[in-house]
Amino acid sequence: SHIMVCGGTGCVSSSSEEIISSLKSELKKNGYDKEIKVVKTGCFGFCGQGPIVKIHPDNVFYVKVKPEDAKEIIEEQIIKGRKVERLLYSEPVTDIKLDEYSKMNFYKKQYRIALRNCGLINPEDINEYIAFNGYEALGKVLTEMTQDDVIKVIKDSGLRGRGGGGFPTGLKWEFTKRSINDQKYIICNADEGDPGAFMDRSILEGDPHSVLEAMAIGAYAIGANHGVIYIRAEYPLAIHRLEIALKQARELGLLGNNIFSSDFNFDIEIKFGAGAFVCGEETALIHSVEGCRGEPTKKPPYPAESGYNGKPTCVNNVETFANITSIINKGSKWFSSIGTEKSKGTKVFALAGKVNNVGLVEVPMGTTLREIIYDIGGGITDDKDFKAVQTGGPSGGVITKADLDTPIDYESLKSIGSMMGSGGMIVMDEDNCMVNIAKFYLEFTQDESCGKCTPCRVGTKRMYEILDRITNGEGVPEDIDKLIELGNMIKDTALCGLGQTAPNPVLSTLHYFREEYEAHINDKK
Ligand code: SF4
Repeated sequence: SHIMVCGGTGCVSSSSEEIISSLKSELKKNGYDKEIKVVKTGCFGFCGQGPIVKIHPDNVFYVKVKPEDAKEIIEEQIIKGRKVERLLYSEPVTDIKLDEYSKMNFYKKQYRIALRNCGLINPEDINEYIAFNGYEALGKVLTEMTQDDVIKVIKDSGLRGRGGGGFPTGLKWEFTKRSINDQKYIICNADEGDPGAFMDRSILEGDPHSVLEAMAIGAYAIGANHGVIYIRAEYPLAIHRLEIALKQARELGLLGNNIFSSDFNFDIEIKFGAGAFVCGEETALIHSVEGCRGEPTKKPPYPAESGYNGKPTCVNNVETFANITSIINKGSKWFSSIGTEKSKGTKVFALAGKVNNVGLVEVPMGTTLREIIYDIGGGITDDKDFKAVQTGGPSGGVITKADLDTPIDYESLKSIGSMMGSGGMIVMDEDNCMVNIAKFYLEFTQDESCGKCTPCRVGTKRMYEILDRITNGEGVPEDIDKLIELGNMIKDTALCGLGQTAPNPVLSTLHYFREEYEAHINDKK
């Protein structure tokens, strides 16, 4: 049997490394250290209840474990075969006996494709990845499929970019393949910058090979032999695991020359970002990789024609890559059978804010917000009333009670004034002031504006000043119209996505909660 301990950033910061040492020393003391392995895995997703320890194959799931609990876990669970009741997850959901992982409400409605190995394997051991069909898809691609075959499978699957844009991945690969050049590049965008979002970080920490393997597959499909992972330097654990994964893949010949004895050569380097939100935009990202200032440029030309070093470049997000090997292994039909008509597969969300089960969730597209917030998230903290949820981070908008039953996909979220974005989902309760929420997001985007174009550089600043005035009780009734006018002008004229979407949180809160703005203005508070 195995004891799995979450080694994601959240659990590491609450002593999971010490828990691992204590479990190992208790096993040794009792003579079980040869028989039972303690495995440091990636994130289980159930972050609000961490650190998590799972006993396999008993399927017993312990939460909020402390290093001093190790003795009891080994003595009771391992030696006597009895569960340690006080560590079993039982709150706040009490309707089922929660000793089985799969029966827990938090996991019941989830479907894990991108997160399939997170919390299951040791991300620092390539053999564990290989044991779960790792590098099988790359082998299949290089020995049985042409570039066009691969592109067709990805196109047929309906996979769309998970970084926020939702552009069809297969089409992006096809465009880059069609650009004839002796040098092409594939780039993984790991510059996750939404406040509160940690989908990409968790995938890289929990299953780095799934991204490396997919990058190799993508590179083969488009005809590239060089890959770059652009990752923010604030993700030290993800970087550490990526470095280990790259080294192990090279040692086994899964990166380098003549992979799987084919004539395909491919390797990957890591480049660090300095945490600028705008560098999630692909042209800004490419400039930053080149060592230049991370500023967007006008498209066309698209990176598929002229990207990194002026060569055809394909940029995909971490979560998009994390879906690729499953699609190759299981087929496009399998993938496209999950989700809605236009949005296939699953989406990972970082569920945060006023919700009981804060964490990382992966659900089929088409799942409703109510299911995510209430069934998976366990409802609102302290039994307060739900007020709104922000999806799409600082680029998105708020969704209110009236739309809780909307099945989530790229189109439906847009139709109710928000957007999918990369997967940040922040829940707000009756106590949240929506004007303050809008101000928080606008302060963020205004701060992150690269300053290249006037509407975004100056416009967001002016909007922020108005919001600041309103929240300080100094607003005047005309401020509301000014916010709407400025917001629409910035949306229409800003150069890149950051500016074009920056007014969204203000415009959407004004649409749904105008009375809160008016109350600030009228009551002068
Ligand atoms: Fe820079 Fe904002 Fe203009 Fe984008 S919209 S180029 S972030 S100033």
